[in-house]
Amino acid sequence: MTHPAKPTIRTTCPYCGVGCGVLANADGQGGLSVRGDPDHPANLGRLCVKGSALGETVGHGGRLLAPQIGGRAATWDEALDLVARRFAQTIARHGPDSIAFYVSGQMLTEDYYVANKLMKGFIGSGNIDTNSRLCMASSVAGHRRAFGSDTVPGLYEDLELADTVVLVGSNLAWCHPVLYQRLAAAKEKRPGLRVVVIDPRRTATCDIADLHLRPAPGSDAALFNLLLSELSRRSIICRDDIDNIEDALTAANAVSPQATGLAHSQLWQFYDLWCGSEKVVTVYSQGINQSDSGTDKVNAILNCHLASGRIGRPGMGPFSVTGQPNAMGGREVGGLANMLACHLDIENPDHRRAVRDFWGAPGMAERPGLKAVDMFHAVEQGRIKALWVICTNPAASMPDADRVARAIAGCDFVVVSETAAQTDTSRLAHVLLPATGWGEKDGTVTNSERRISRQRRIMPPAGQARDDWRILAEVGRRMGWPEAFAWNGPAQVFAEHAALSGIAGGLGSDFDISAHADISTADYDRLEPFLWPQGAGKQGGRFFGDGRFHTPSGRGRLVPVTPRDPQPLNQDYPFRLNTGRIRDQWHTMTRTGLSPRLSRHLAEPFLELHPLDAARLGLTPAVLAEVESPQGRAILRVLVTERVAQGHPFAPIHWTGETAPAGRIGALLPALTDPVSGQPALKSAPVAIRPF
Ligand code: SF4
Repeated sequence: MTHPAKPTIRTTCPYCGVGCGVLANADGQGGLSVRGDPDHPANLGRLCVKGSALGETVGHGGRLLAPQIGGRAATWDEALDLVARRFAQTIARHGPDSIAFYVSGQMLTEDYYVANKLMKGFIGSGNIDTNSRLCMASSVAGHRRAFGSDTVPGLYEDLELADTVVLVGSNLAWCHPVLYQRLAAAKEKRPGLRVVVIDPRRTATCDIADLHLRPAPGSDAALFNLLLSELSRRSIICRDDIDNIEDALTAANAVSPQATGLAHSQLWQFYDLWCGSEKVVTVYSQGINQSDSGTDKVNAILNCHLASGRIGRPGMGPFSVTGQPNAMGGREVGGLANMLACHLDIENPDHRRAVRDFWGAPGMAERPGLKAVDMFHAVEQGRIKALWVICTNPAASMPDADRVARAIAGCDFVVVSETAAQTDTSRLAHVLLPATGWGEKDGTVTNSERRISRQRRIMPPAGQARDDWRILAEVGRRMGWPEAFAWNGPAQVFAEHAALSGIAGGLGSDFDISAHADISTADYDRLEPFLWPQGAGKQGGRFFGDGRFHTPSGRGRLVPVTPRDPQPLNQDYPFRLNTGRIRDQWHTMTRTGLSPRLSRHLAEPFLELHPLDAARLGLTPAVLAEVESPQGRAILRVLVTERVAQGHPFAPIHWTGETAPAGRIGALLPALTDPVSGQPALKSAPVAIRPF
């Protein structure tokens, strides 16, 4: 029997923050073929290996197909009634701050908006935080300190237009592959484009580097402070548009070049390239953000771009690339505990009032909620009595993950919304709610260059799975707020968010998509990818090229940065473990792990170890090693390589408690956080290594 051909659906890849457009064709029998969308501005037809394997990951194997209460199947009505009742009882007995939502940068913007509205406007607590806290919270905090707003100034094409591209704390080739492909193609076409990679490890990204610097771990702020001093020495400072230059220079001038661990010749090579190119883009990612001084590192980079005026014009600027597909959308809806929707400030009474009035909210949160690490400490201490985890797996991915798992296990009431039947976190839930996954739902995402694109439904939901926004709205209605959660589809949620952004624009917010406030369902279905802002007289593009910022003075604000050393090593834990991602897996592998093709790349958790370290420890290639920190242990397959420096082994983050040998890296990492952003220092940990 032949099946009629299904139309091609234009959608967006659900993995990294590049946000590639995908053309998808379902065969009507559960199969799906995908290819890159040549008309999507992010990828222009390209897809990386993860994106091109999407068709292999949409089967129903391993899916959560029906609600469960206490491990037994339940109806949706039973499950939703129970969640609403327990939340209402908990609020009545212990107050709104006894509830917390822990959500995800993989949720669609509409899901995220509804979760944020329910918690901040109606439950009345700021206790909603997201796994994006683990990804780019330091960039958010750095942007707000420097620009007065969380604004990504530039566009992807700036990497192609630049004369020098610096990649710091970013393995772009594996973590944002299509952006790397665009950069590599630009370099091939224009060999004069210089690429500098700053990373203690030799990664695949170094393949196109003209210069690879391997600085001492954690010395990024020192490196960029020295660059600021050098910009001043060479008189490449534009004092007209910036505040705080003298204080920033005083802090920068106090740094010794020795702090970087680099030879003078390498430093001067780098500074000559950076200072000698007006068109310079500095791309940074988790290697900068995931540090207990991540915000300072971000500001050390932003200082150099602000001071030299290399920002907001074609081919220049700092560029934070986000790990997750919708980390940016989460920022836009106020998905972080310390933000309000539409980039408004939860600590500003005028902003709170405006959002409260717009929502008709009965109990607006009056202060920031708990950030991720503090949230799970509060769960452990019994201050959070009801927890809803949506689209993420904190029992594997949080630092000190064993402790987080114990905290969740001890919580009075835990709800988990998931696509996967079995995760480290779902096993600890009292109520499990099956959520639709990629290809089954409709909504929008925002990529790293502020481009909003549609994800579209391609196939029916698996089993009884429902969209996250709808599940959240059902709970809101059952808790007594039927009008506020009465949307009949994601287009209406999007339109409400867009309307709120118009009000936010009037309060000085940079985020404005008010041009879409009256969007119809038909227009939403046809919505083409677009850059924000899009409101009255605003049309995408770059920010800050005119020298106007969102700070009180209207000038860019430099932040004096005093570099901080990473956690010290000691006799018991003499190695500094470096963590990261591999090319073909995504997060805790619930989706990419379904593709045999992707699993062939690197099939099990491993530890890259320098040959001298391996020899000293008596470890040979392919044997098992036990890696231990004060927090926990993991068993990893040894890979002996000079890619890593002596004393600085590397391990990928993807494997969880289900895999053998146990490669659960989150269990090794300390719950240290950046004091400004609250982002955990997930990139490194002091460890001991021994034969297993
Ligand atoms: Fe998906 Fe990122 Fe690969 Fe693009 S680069 S196909 S968004 S994983």
